[in-house]
Amino acid sequence: MPAKPLPLRDRLGRPLESLRLSVTDRCNLRCLYCMPEEDYVWLPRQELLSFEELVRLVDIFTELGVTRLRLTGGEPLLRHNVDRLVAMLTQNSRITDLALTTNGVLFAEQAGALKRAGLGRVTISLDTLQRERFRQMTRRDEHQRVLSAFDAARRAGFTGTKLDAVIMRGENDDELADLIEFGRSNRVEVRFIEYMDVLGATKCCSGSNSATARSKPRPKRARLLLLDFCCPTARFSASSPPRLRLFAGRATAAASPRMGCGIAAYMPPAAQTCGTCCEVPQ
Ligand code: SF4
Repeated sequence: MPAKPLPLRDRLGRPLESLRLSVTDRCNLRCLYCMPEEDYVWLPRQELLSFEELVRLVDIFTELGVTRLRLTGGEPLLRHNVDRLVAMLTQNSRITDLALTTNGVLFAEQAGALKRAGLGRVTISLDTLQRERFRQMTRRDEHQRVLSAFDAARRAGFTGTKLDAVIMRGENDDELADLIEFGRSNRVEVRFIEYMDVLGATKCCSGSNSATARSKPRPKRARLLLLDFCCPTARFSASSPPRLRLFAGRATAAASPRMGCGIAAYMPPAAQTCGTCCEVPQ
């Protein structure tokens, strides 16, 4: 009988249980922190893995211990018939959590099919509630379609929906309270993500060279003050970093062994990591 493969572990000895699967490099937005140029050379379509190849790849990873799978892009819903891929992946009984990250533009029209195919959860990216600011940040006038994605998720029966917002100093950090209120009224968990400079993607919305300043991590104390502003009843301390969660009208801040603090789901490249979280060290 062939030996059972050893579970994947990273150099900190943590089991690698989560896999992000990019199904396309294309996107229908042009966020300035991600795609600073208008035109890109995309992978030729024939070089993308077929659904059957993706499923085979996932099979191999799940044999090695992966149980949580997230479909990403680019924008994953630009790939035709992603619901068919979802249905194929649900045949893998080792997957206990099948999720999708989307910019929301195409989600409303596909939400029902994705739910019926077996998608478990969805995370929708939205950095601003202001239409004109959205247009400047993404260079596309699709704000209303993204807003409608949250309602579509609820109507399709999704629960545990998350809103991911990249927060940039001087660009949208005046919207923290509004985003939290939007999350509360739409019954979604809001997660603030600290801006990270992707190599080469350094243009910012205001056109200044403030990317360096934005990429500089906030001092921990400043982060705590920011959270305190968002959730004045929460108890935070620098020694037990909080993870702010807002759901169904309740705000709770749980002391978390995860690195950093709750508004920084993704830490800057120089951040230290510990052995108890599942972030991939840089
Ligand atoms: S929606 Fe996501 S993948 Fe598309 S440009 Fe914006 S950050 Fe990049």
